[in-house]
Amino acid sequence: KDNQLVFGLSSRDAPAIEPIVDPLNVLGDDLFDDKVMSLKLPPAVMKRFQECLISGQPTSEEDMKVIAKIMFGWARERGCIDFAHWFFPTRGGGGAVGGMLGAYKQDTLIDLDFGSKFVTKPMKACLPHERLFQGETDGSSFPNGGLRVTHSAAAFTTWDRSSPPFVLNKTLYIPCAFITHFGKCIDEKTPLLRSMDAVKKEGLRLLKAADLGKNAQTIYSYLGWEQEFFVIKAEHYKARPDLVNTGRTLFGKLPTRHQQGDLNYFAPVPGTVQKLLDKVQTAMLQVGCPMAVKHNEVAPGQHEMSPVFRVANVSCDTNVLFMEVMNREAAKMGLQVLFHEKPFAGINGSGKHANWSIGTDTGLNFFYPGKTEEGAKLFVTGIACLAHGLAKYNELVRCSVATAGNDHRLGAQEAPPAIISLYPGQGFEQYVESVIAGGDLLGYKAEKKKQETGCSQAMHIEANVEDRNRTAPFPFCGNRFEFRAVGSSQNCNLPVMVCNAIMAAGMAHMAELIEKGSNHRDAVAAMFKENKHVIFTGNGYSDQWKQDAAKRGLPNLNTTPKALATWTEEKNQALFEKMGIYSREETNARQEVMYENYITALKIEADTMINMVDTGIVPACAKDLKKSNFSSKKTAAARKAAYEAIVQEADKLKAVVSKTEGPLAKEAAHLCDAVKPQMEKLRAAVDKAEALMESGLYPYPSYETMLPPL
Ligand code: ADP
Ligand code: MG
Repeated sequence: KDNQLVFGLSSRDAPAIEPIVDPLNVLGDDLFDDKVMSLKLPPAVMKRFQECLISGQPTSEEDMKVIAKIMFGWARERGCIDFAHWFFPTRGGGGAVGGMLGAYKQDTLIDLDFGSKFVTKPMKACLPHERLFQGETDGSSFPNGGLRVTHSAAAFTTWDRSSPPFVLNKTLYIPCAFITHFGKCIDEKTPLLRSMDAVKKEGLRLLKAADLGKNAQTIYSYLGWEQEFFVIKAEHYKARPDLVNTGRTLFGKLPTRHQQGDLNYFAPVPGTVQKLLDKVQTAMLQVGCPMAVKHNEVAPGQHEMSPVFRVANVSCDTNVLFMEVMNREAAKMGLQVLFHEKPFAGINGSGKHANWSIGTDTGLNFFYPGKTEEGAKLFVTGIACLAHGLAKYNELVRCSVATAGNDHRLGAQEAPPAIISLYPGQGFEQYVESVIAGGDLLGYKAEKKKQETGCSQAMHIEANVEDRNRTAPFPFCGNRFEFRAVGSSQNCNLPVMVCNAIMAAGMAHMAELIEKGSNHRDAVAAMFKENKHVIFTGNGYSDQWKQDAAKRGLPNLNTTPKALATWTEEKNQALFEKMGIYSREETNARQEVMYENYITALKIEADTMINMVDTGIVPACAKDLKKSNFSSKKTAAARKAAYEAIVQEADKLKAVVSKTEGPLAKEAAHLCDAVKPQMEKLRAAVDKAEALMESGLYPYPSYETMLPPL
């Protein structure tokens, strides 16, 4: 019997049959959400807790005690002996190795009972409410942009009550805001939460002024992210110092076969990666984050997953969690996930489209044309506010995605241009003209169009109200806008915060116009008239658009240093201050942190390159020259010249890197304008050598080795 063949294997070798478990059975099992709270908390406590979430009032100490006790019991049922305040320092993101992860310190749930006489048995396990709601730590090693000095190091974590705690690896994670001793934010979450408050305040004000959404008590912003990434073998990753240090390959010849023919897009996911994606999907289900899609992407080795959208802060948290879970599960399978925006030159990079919308607690959506008159009015109102925000604060939006990693994407023919424009659809563009000319507010007809297929068995389709435009940084997608310029390794908090901030600015502006006596229609028309130059429905990849955009006065901030220089402009300072998102001091600090992140990323890249050339590439070239039997003297000379060019370019890079100094803006500009071009020259020389060298001598796994389906 043992020798019976099962698919060509003896039954002894046959893989064990895995029990069939329905992953949906675990949905939300490890999430302490309002469903669990409703079941476990006294109804009065629950009611007060939820009221506080809407009103913004603090939770009382008595209620905090009850909630902490219930949460503790729930976490213990899941085997936790630790809890962790989980927060999001502004550590970077432009290619951050492993993605822009959260920070936590595991704290024990066990305490000593010093009231007891017996020192040997004084244990008790509990979650004191003071520790659940607030934590204190040494914040001196987190980026703060000068908001904190080392000798005044205290920093505090405080639970974001609207983001539910969850259990992962027997630790209770509590999503937190992170601020200094003086209440200054030094994290990604706090500004987002403040911007959500701003959208709520200005949105409710606008609804009142425009006489819409009467019963709305609050306004939420929503986010559904689409995460792109590469998966390679961990052994290849570890053998490449550039991947380990910088998240991207600094050298590497494009393989003969890469993404020609677009064979990879939506192709069946290779078996090993499929297993990884399934595992991650289940793990995410367990913490209450169901995935909406998973699929193969354009480049070989590239894939995407995205969840069902949620309230923006929760969704941002789950994105960070997703990257963490991905890293952990991949490591268990001998794989490595690359979240960098451009891990491989010459083939598609990775983005993280941020699908974003704004809606009321009564179910109205500012970006859904809707079937009712009220919905239709809200829709055109919403887009007028967004157009205002994008036109007036165009540079801020660009800054929110300005990182070293993303500079490789924006403007290449695979991602939106660095010019920020709004695509509401071609039908809507015509409507904008008609409203400006005095037309009715309800003049936009959001009707689906019937399209025949031309064959009898596949039925006709209902085409969306507007077409998609993948060359636009801000296209309309039926019920949301998709901010397509966000980088794959970024934390979504900053880009979504800026979307909220500029939207709140538009809402405030329209509310003010109406409050001062304008009627609603005229206010919408006036805002479209003033801001229509930001609306563009053509091809964003074309060169013509660059010229036209310049004529329209739209900035083209095509590098991170250029973008960051605009962050602290007076109008931006004033906006953040008015909306209660950043004080002036915090705005300046954030700029400093962004510069620092950029500079650090580039310096590490340049140093890694030099090191790889000195210790790997140059010795390999020398070996190749010694070993090879060249057919002609000419070939030998050509090879020698190519190899010598590497040494020359590396020397030039060393020289130019050594001149990196001065204030942050100057240092960043030098790295961008002088160091980066020299890095590219060195890379070109090395990649040329790779094409000549005996393949066994190339000291690192090649693109061809790393990218086949796993
Ligand atoms: P695409 O077809 O553009 O690739 P996907 O299906 O991959 O889009 O992802 C779309 C994302 O948008 C999902 O996360 C989805 O839940 C989210 N989404 C859908 N509606 C909204 C909305 N109203 N607000 C925010 N996000 C939304
Ligand atoms: Mg998608």
